[in-house]
Amino acid sequence: MKPDLRSLRREELQAQFAQWNEPAYRVDQLLRWLYPLRVTAWDQMTNLPKPLRARLAEHYSLHCLELARLQGAEASTQKFLWRLSDHALIESVLIPANPALYGEASDRNTLCVSTQVGCAYGCKFCASGLDGYQRNLEPYEIVEQVLAVERGRAGQRSEVRSQRSEVGSQRSEVGSQRSEVGSQRSEVGGQRAEVRGQKPEVGGQRSEAVDQASDIRHPVSDVRPPSSVLRLVDNLVIMGMGEPLANYDHLLKALTILNAPWGGAIGARKITISTSGLVPQIRRLADEPFQFSLAISLHGATDEVRSRLMPVNRKYPLSDLVLACEYYRATKGRLLTFEYILIAGVNDGLDQAKALAPLARRLNAKVNLIPYNRVEGLRWERPDNATQEAFLAALERQEVKATLRREKGHDIDAACGQLRLKTERELTAIIPP
Ligand code: SAH
Ligand code: SF4
Repeated sequence: MKPDLRSLRREELQAQFAQWNEPAYRVDQLLRWLYPLRVTAWDQMTNLPKPLRARLAEHYSLHCLELARLQGAEASTQKFLWRLSDHALIESVLIPANPALYGEASDRNTLCVSTQVGCAYGCKFCASGLDGYQRNLEPYEIVEQVLAVERGRAGQRSEVRSQRSEVGSQRSEVGSQRSEVGSQRSEVGGQRAEVRGQKPEVGGQRSEAVDQASDIRHPVSDVRPPSSVLRLVDNLVIMGMGEPLANYDHLLKALTILNAPWGGAIGARKITISTSGLVPQIRRLADEPFQFSLAISLHGATDEVRSRLMPVNRKYPLSDLVLACEYYRATKGRLLTFEYILIAGVNDGLDQAKALAPLARRLNAKVNLIPYNRVEGLRWERPDNATQEAFLAALERQEVKATLRREKGHDIDAACGQLRLKTERELTAIIPP
């Protein structure tokens, strides 16, 4: 199989171009097509000579994620189910910032990306691990989740622009990119995407949101540099399907590309890696030259409770995990977050809040309390609101910084792995193995 161009760092492309006796500036021309402009086909790279494009196509692929399903409208949390070239399914979730209490809505967008197909860690509450582990994602499959979402939004915006101002003749590069994939239409609200084009990409998706012309923050215009038009994701959380630190090398490569000024240009501090607690990899990450934020999926404050929920705790118990976290904090000087799902009758008692507080204080970690999202086929439930609030209050009394997500995620299967699981089960119901 040919490697994908979006799995390569700038230095690797430079070495390849030098070997082909291509001038060095061609690498930057190529990178501009790949990242700020997010093109999807070789013949869109109009300032590269045709023989070079042919050579690139001969040695490298340029695979785009295929949108299999889209849930949610543009103004709210949107969940993307992607089909990979081997037909495996993965998910990304785009979360707009909560509207400010007063005034304008904030324009920060967070994208949650997957790093593996399935997960081998088998946490008892999680949909991602239910059908086991299939494979690691390639670096470009992680990078493409960001590009494909941004491409889709740019497609919608340029469409709104041409509707509003009727400047069909002044199409920007982005606008004309869109028109190539305009035959695809995906519907919001959990309907299966209806893909009619030869090359289905999210680029041409339409939704009811297209009609909301007031939502155009960056109307596409020919005078603006495209890079400032297309950037959408400013926070990245590696919290989708899979255990990111179990796919360490591909993750680091993808994040290097997404962080680089020539690539995704997302600041390292705006990238949060969530892990179930792989101790050696946390230490290794601490020694990397990046200031990534780290979130630990804790979900239990004693070994007894944590091991019941997360088999990984038997290999790396809390005492080891806390030492690795201390090392990360000391090396990076970065704040840590503890993710803590509240599950009724399992980890939501005040005894757990009491054990959690000293751990959080010792690491100066912020605790994110997340009411459990039901997973079909699992017996766990979320506690009632009073129990959730009591847990939060107990932490706050013990001087721990904590937040409780009072979320509406239920309606779009917001927790990781749920949409994929549902889709795979529906498909198996339709197509017998
Ligand atoms: N493997 C990594 C990252 C992916 S899981 C990790 O475990 O950290 C990321 C997060 O998804 C978990 O911390 C957990 O907070 C959340 N999650 C998984 N299943 C959930 C569910 N059913 N309800 C609420 N959150 C869930
Ligand atoms: Fe894997 Fe994370 Fe789900 Fe555990 S919570 S099964 S580590 S994806």
